[in-house]
Amino acid sequence: MRKFVTPVGNEGMYILDTASWRIVKPVMNKEKCVECGICLTYCPVNSIEFKSDKYIINYDFCKGCGICSNECPKTAIDMIEEGDER
Ligand code: SF4
Ligand code: SF4
Repeated sequence: MRKFVTPVGNEGMYILDTASWRIVKPVMNKEKCVECGICLTYCPVNSIEFKSDKYIINYDFCKGCGICSNECPKTAIDMIEEGDER
């Protein structure tokens, strides 16, 4: 699993496993998504990527903050309980 590296504190760089913080996870509804890219812009840990002409969520980094869901203008991202996969 990849880690998120961030400069924090007096001792230099810390490596954070931000995915381990997640208790709820974002799930994208492809039928509602209009591919505007707003979710990618707002994600604080760069967990949303544009690959093969579509937006996808990288769960290696996603910390479950819900910002993408709040900012999506089409309510195309639902936050669900971890383990409650569809
Ligand atoms: S913000 Fe919503 S509509 Fe826009 S790309 Fe992300 S999921 Fe799709
Ligand atoms: S829940 Fe937070 S960390 Fe995860 S993809 Fe959305 S904005 Fe990024």
